[in-house]
Amino acid sequence: MRGVSVLGSTGSIGTSTLNVLRRHRDRFRLVGLTAGSNAALLAEQVAEWQPGFSRLASGDGPGCLIEAATRPDADIIVNAVVGFAGLEATLAALEAGKRVALANKESLVAAGDLVAEAARRGGGEVVPVDSEHSGVLQCIVGREDSLKRLILTASGGPFRGWSAERVAAASVVEALNHPTWRMGSKITVDCATLANKAMEVIEAHYLFGLPYDRVDVVVHPQSIVHAFVEFADGSVLGQLGFPSMELPILYALTHPERASDQGVKPFDPVEIGSLTFEPVRREVFRAFHAGVEAGRMGGTAPAAFNAANEVAVGAFLAGRISFGRIAEVIEGTLDRYRPASADSLEAVRGADADARMKAERLLA
Ligand code: NAD
Ligand code: MG
Repeated sequence: MRGVSVLGSTGSIGTSTLNVLRRHRDRFRLVGLTAGSNAALLAEQVAEWQPGFSRLASGDGPGCLIEAATRPDADIIVNAVVGFAGLEATLAALEAGKRVALANKESLVAAGDLVAEAARRGGGEVVPVDSEHSGVLQCIVGREDSLKRLILTASGGPFRGWSAERVAAASVVEALNHPTWRMGSKITVDCATLANKAMEVIEAHYLFGLPYDRVDVVVHPQSIVHAFVEFADGSVLGQLGFPSMELPILYALTHPERASDQGVKPFDPVEIGSLTFEPVRREVFRAFHAGVEAGRMGGTAPAAFNAANEVAVGAFLAGRISFGRIAEVIEGTLDRYRPASADSLEAVRGADADARMKAERLLA
């Protein structure tokens, strides 16, 4: 029995994780639950699971995430918190030698080197929950040495075929109408701008140790192929499945083994019919380009990108700025930002705060 602590249990990934754990009570024991502010749902979850530890960050303070991430009875920490708020729990869990099933991609985007260093120091490991990275990991186990190139797929979001003018004026309701995945609102907007895919390129760079020119992205509207991996001899493997986060969540818990599971819709190529691929329209989805460039720049630039994006997406969801302004706020922040070395948590926190301030000014 392995103990599992879920951070962000009331969100989309959190509730999917509990669905997975409900089917695998013979392997895993839920020992901790934390949420941001949804007290009613957390109370329901606590009543069902009776974990030894449960906290609400809005009431108990952010330290409760670290407590949940480092408890001795937890072997695996599912980090399903959204945003920069999840970083310190990732670091603490790795320092404490835990497996981190990482949905909180912002941890790797903002502080990829610190995450790797914490894992080295504490003996912890990061196993990605993000479906594309889970797909890559599933293709490469045992073959890491002959990796040549990764191709991450993107659904293209709700605005895939739209003109630049129409995209720029898109409403919140339109941006939240994702064609293939049901997710929290922040990541859903990130999928509409394609900032999410830039974050995933950065995430892949840190997880798999590849330079940026060996991580490509292709738009694949059916969301059936989650990633392709090209090997040194030119052979390409892909990981496929109907879109469901429960499969990558379960794999992050059991890696490198596989558990038998009835929870995922059986694969049916005939039902799928055709798989199509097209390039990213970088001139329309400028947040994608800005994010990948921040990744290439390195240091604290990706942390600044992440912070500017969080501020811009928050402002868009609150009705303060148009959809088109999201990319402009990110670009404007990065233009005014001077990256430094991201060699300490203080440096990354400082970069985050500085970029948030610059982004806020651009909202006015
Ligand atoms: P969500 O908004 O549905 O849930 C977020 C969770 O984090 C909630 O439980 C919320 O209470 C908690 N939270 C928010 N702010 C917090 C804070 N300051 N302190 C503590 N807890 C806080 O989001 P989601 O869709 O579940 O996504 C979670 C993470 O997983 C994000 O980083 C997202 O990018 C990533 N991810 C999600 C999906 C998906 O399918 N939903 C896929 C891949 C990656
Ligand atoms: Mg993804």
